[in-house]
Amino acid sequence: MFPVERMRRYRLNEDIRSMFKETYINKDKLIMPVFIDENERGKKEIKSMPGIYRYSIEEYENYVKYLDEIGVKNIILFGIPKNKDSTGSSSYDKNGIVQRSIRIARDNTKMNVIADLCLCEYTDTGHCGVIENNYVNNDKTLEIYGKEAISYADSGVDIIAPSGMMDGQVKAIRKSLDDNNYINTIIMAYSSKFASNLYGPFRDAADSTPQFGDRRSYQMDYSNGREALREMDLDIEEGADIIMVKPALFYLDLIHEAKKYYNLPVATYMVSGEYTMIKNSVLSGLLNENVIDEALTSVFRAGADLAINYFTEDYIKNHK
Ligand SMILES: [Zn+2]
Repeated sequence: MFPVERMRRYRLNEDIRSMFKETYINKDKLIMPVFIDENERGKKEIKSMPGIYRYSIEEYENYVKYLDEIGVKNIILFGIPKNKDSTGSSSYDKNGIVQRSIRIARDNTKMNVIADLCLCEYTDTGHCGVIENNYVNNDKTLEIYGKEAISYADSGVDIIAPSGMMDGQVKAIRKSLDDNNYINTIIMAYSSKFASNLYGPFRDAADSTPQFGDRRSYQMDYSNGREALREMDLDIEEGADIIMVKPALFYLDLIHEAKKYYNLPVATYMVSGEYTMIKNSVLSGLLNENVIDEALTSVFRAGADLAINYFTEDYIKNHK
């Protein structure tokens, strides 16, 4: 105790401080989301997300080569298709937007390629599954997820990330993959995905706003922490290789608990609204840009092994 113990000894100067630094951001653990739009020519900035674009497939090719060149190690792909229908059938088209994008990244870069797997970009209702009587039919949706997974694997994806929050989705996808000999395709499960108010800008980006109702009959209530752990338990039993907490900053308690309770990698997704809040505060001069480092550090300190976030490109560019 004071005066023998003096905590300020650890903070005397930069060299001393760096010796006692506990948490580092490892660039290999950052994952950059990329939006590819089949309706787009060139690229278009997403209004609510300064610095983040929707790419045409041609522009996307240049962009992923650039990401690879500056040292980005991992990307997660989101596609906006030309055709939407009630069952999201373009999600498993072998020449669909995500499938083509996977092949382009595989053929032109060394990056690990992750593809988000859902239906909300592909359904005319904007919901994450097939609608029957105003309700998302869980089990029919799983059949489509299975087909989508195979078509991603056919295209050479490294990791499939199911985000629809249907019950049994990890099991259904694992079975489809294994039945088709894709035993090495990794599943990153969006295990505890909350019905968050922070997704607004993403819906602009991915053109996936529900046309009626909301997603609270499948995404989690943000009041529930124990239920989140149960979702993780189930995904692990179903065969997930990575579990995820989404969003990140309002849910650091759950990242911490996931790390404490489970022995498999924990990912988190710092979502569009988190990016928008921080980025706009920095751009307007209200916050110093070191806040980005602080936000990213906080998720790793809480226990995340991997962080999907929109700062990845700039962070890696600025930390050579
Ligand atoms: Zn969805």
